[in-house]
Amino acid sequence: MNTSSAKDQCSPAKRWWSKETVAVVTGANKGIGFATVKKLAELGLTVILTARDPEKGQKAVESLRAQGIDVWFKRLDVADISSITDFASWLHQVFGGLDILVNNAAVSFNELNTNTVEHAETVIKTNFYGPKLLIEALMPLFRRSPSTSRILSLSSRLGLLNKLTNPAIRKLLLEEETLKEEKIDQIVKQFLIQVKDGTWQEHGWPKVWTDYSVSKLALNAYSRVLARRLEGNGVSVNCFCPGFTRTDMTGGWGQRSADEAAAAAAALALLPSEELPTGKFFKWCIPMLYSKL
Ligand code: NDP
Repeated sequence: MNTSSAKDQCSPAKRWWSKETVAVVTGANKGIGFATVKKLAELGLTVILTARDPEKGQKAVESLRAQGIDVWFKRLDVADISSITDFASWLHQVFGGLDILVNNAAVSFNELNTNTVEHAETVIKTNFYGPKLLIEALMPLFRRSPSTSRILSLSSRLGLLNKLTNPAIRKLLLEEETLKEEKIDQIVKQFLIQVKDGTWQEHGWPKVWTDYSVSKLALNAYSRVLARRLEGNGVSVNCFCPGFTRTDMTGGWGQRSADEAAAAAAALALLPSEELPTGKFFKWCIPMLYSKL
């Protein structure tokens, strides 16, 4: 893809937000999350930088302060339900609610050309259940007006349906009208069982970074189901794949910088409500219907 023309499609929206607009970014001590916090704060929102390690989080906040950018910090480990609960109650007490959630935190234990599933449980817990449990905990806190509240989850093309060859699971995921969260949970559990019994390679799961790809596949499917559940309720739910980006996750390899990815993420999170879709998978800045991918 030509990044410079794609970049143009991701230009910041006309300003509808203010300093009262509250955005939360997970896993924001480094990489795309950190750059997204910086971008949203520069654009004038109130931003809460969260990180699982308070020391790393504080350091990140201080480095922004040194550049004249002020953001809040709160610890949040998305793989720990008690941390999610603490965060939700802190957010309620301090801000009363939120407008934008950027689910960015994720892990992968693979080098670029390897494919181990040794840490599959942690990967699924962090990348799929993390955002899911956080969204559910924050659900009553979305302000839902005057402009739509937004959930934007960093996802990946590695988790697209076209990477999955298992016909039964493909069928389940393609039946959008009947797809339910419980079915997605069952699919994920089935994968973890096959990892444990050593048969996962026989079942048509994505072939690259398999556990990570399954976590994003589940996140994409959950986001579609959630978008349908929240239709007309003032909260949009979309996924965004930034493409191959130079961060620690890719060992520093990639086609674009974290700042470029973050500029696109911020532009999507800030789309004016009349242009904001729901239930879409943004391949860079192009909204696609997940089931067609
Ligand atoms: P990084 O590895 O640079 O950053 C990941 C961040 O997530 C770190 O801050 C990490 O914290 C945090 N994190 C991990 N586990 C948890 C947890 N349990 N609770 C809270 N935070 C956690 O990755 P990127 O910046 O590249 O990735 C950001 C997002 O973009 C991810 O969702 C990724 O899947 C997605 N993405 C990235 C692509 C790329 O090419 N880079 C491509 C497509 C999607 P810590 O420092 O403590 O480990």
